[in-house]
Amino acid sequence: MSSKSIKVAASGTVANVSCGFDCLGYSLDDPFDVVTIKTSPKPKINITVQGIKSDKIPLITEKNTAGKAVLSMLNNLDIKKGFNIDISKGIPPGSGIGSSAASAAAALIGVNQLLDCPLSNEDLIIHGMVGEQVASGSFHADNIAPALLGGIVLVHSYDPLEIYRLPVPNNLISTVALPDFTINTKEARGLLPKKVPLKSAVKQASNLAAFTISLYQNDFNLMGKSMVDFFAEPVRSELIPGFKSVHKSVMKTGAIGCGISGSGPSVFALSDNLEKGKEIAKLMHEEFQNNGLDSITYTSKINKNPPNILD
Ligand code: ADP
Repeated sequence: MSSKSIKVAASGTVANVSCGFDCLGYSLDDPFDVVTIKTSPKPKINITVQGIKSDKIPLITEKNTAGKAVLSMLNNLDIKKGFNIDISKGIPPGSGIGSSAASAAAALIGVNQLLDCPLSNEDLIIHGMVGEQVASGSFHADNIAPALLGGIVLVHSYDPLEIYRLPVPNNLISTVALPDFTINTKEARGLLPKKVPLKSAVKQASNLAAFTISLYQNDFNLMGKSMVDFFAEPVRSELIPGFKSVHKSVMKTGAIGCGISGSGPSVFALSDNLEKGKEIAKLMHEEFQNNGLDSITYTSKINKNPPNILD
């Protein structure tokens, strides 16, 4: 049988979005990973990696998020086929914008296509989560769900898994800055408080509800007021040199809200037009530079699409 091949691009994602710790995420246009999958005559998953910081990515199938996710999918479908998965990293690992989820999302979409689509993109999320668990030590979907579905996604429940796509206001712009150092999600999770005061829990819940309403009503004023994190940001911001000055200066420029993307060190901001988004990117870069850190920035509308099949 001749071998078949497919190439898929999956983009980075911003998880938490300030008020939705572990349950809210959105998809970016850029940066992205490109994953090429080829059928193999041997019933084995082989991983190769190239691109940005590829030396930091495990080649052992069970330790790689893409490999582990595809293994989970094949086991679940009871399919004994082999694939060579080549990952071209465009998203640096440990950046906080879902580098590990993007590889898994692209690999899952590609393998599913090569198998003539036995599963929907929604069905693939659970397998992406199995992949994510090897990277972060936790079974979470707030990167993999928006990576597979696009748009802004709420994870309402894990058992059973319930995911909702929320409306994306047309003029909502995302700016992300990736400062040049890494934070390991596993370690960053270790810093989280084991308990939170009732008052903070109530505030976080009402903020998430208000953020959701703001998406349905295109109400950027309410969105801004709701983008506060009482759980993770107070401890995680201490790990990011310059976070407080980045936040202050971005908000002064008229951002709707600004916070840590995932477990950091990337910082994101939402704004209501592209020019402002680009101005915010410049400011983030300058503020990180003032703190001795180089950074890369990305500004775009929120990506409403699932991973892109290139050929
Ligand atoms: P990010 O938010 O950038 O995904 P994480 O810390 O959650 O950061 O994930 C990065 C960790 O996952 C690193 O330890 C990396 O070695 C591991 N990892 C395993 N497979 C991959 C992959 N295909 N792409 C990126 N990181 C991976």
